[in-house]
Amino acid sequence: MAPEGSAVRLDGKLAASELIERLRAEVARLPYVPRLTFVRVGDDPASASYVRSKERLAGRAGVASQSFELPADVSEAELLGLIARLNADDEVDGILVQLPLPPAIDPRRVLDAIDPAKDVDGLHPRNVGLLWSGRDGLVPATPLGVVELLDRYGVGTEGKEAVIVGRSELVGKPLAALLLRRNATVTLAHSRTTDLGAVTRRADILVVAAGSPRLVTPPMVKPGAAVLDVGLTRVDGRIVGDVDPAVASVAGWLTPMPGGTGPMTVVMVIVNTLTAARMRRAA
Ligand code: NAP
Repeated sequence: MAPEGSAVRLDGKLAASELIERLRAEVARLPYVPRLTFVRVGDDPASASYVRSKERLAGRAGVASQSFELPADVSEAELLGLIARLNADDEVDGILVQLPLPPAIDPRRVLDAIDPAKDVDGLHPRNVGLLWSGRDGLVPATPLGVVELLDRYGVGTEGKEAVIVGRSELVGKPLAALLLRRNATVTLAHSRTTDLGAVTRRADILVVAAGSPRLVTPPMVKPGAAVLDVGLTRVDGRIVGDVDPAVASVAGWLTPMPGGTGPMTVVMVIVNTLTAARMRRAA
């Protein structure tokens, strides 16, 4: 349980639930039903549960979804064959391949095979290039959710020092591009960063996506900073974030864990499905 602190709670659960109602109204006005397709390989229970929660949320927004579940020993060629069929299917607006994939399958080859116009995870090199060149494309959901939370709570980015801990393709790098676009001064820290605390203490906006439980402690945070915890690690059956909840006594804003960035990620997948559906029809 987080100790009593002064930080404003960046309530992702509430924001996500309001956003989904807005999406529902938007979808209801469309002359078509957007369709999201999930592809899952193997029987990892965490992946199955992520897909179920995304399917539920798609249903709440009025987005149709379908799910392909392939056995863990499926060949890369079979998986690529399925992606090719979904790419060619005009009824499919978004394709989401749930990671991780079994070790025998190269995730890069699979993600690169998705039609960039249906790439709701925003990981195709074309979408990565569009993001970094400041053009419209599909952007990974977690960074979109972080930015949406900042906007909702009025945390400005212009001229601010933003530090992101973690430089993954999925979170750190695309978030850096989004914050740079919003005129923040962005630093990406990672496992080779020397004196992480000295870097994080500079941050007006600190986003932690390292997957290292309680990595960020109160002395590492600038008083009044907005701190967004992305990390999720299961420790003794509980989900633990990358930020020590005691940071609430120093930060100006803090995401709860759970109920912060996680619910926003799921909603942003639905937002991306709508974006993909609109862009494909406009093209
Ligand atoms: P990832 O690909 O494993 O990347 C982790 C990044 O953190 C790497 O850049 C790594 O540095 C850096 N890092 C690891 N330990 C560090 C440390 N002690 N100090 C500084 N940097 C460190 O992970 P990811 O896919 O970005 O996910 C990160 C975390 O977010 C995971 O816990 C994941 O479960 C969670 N996640 C949550 C959501 C959500 O919706 N809330 C969505 C996606 C992911 P190097 O590059 O040097 O190795």
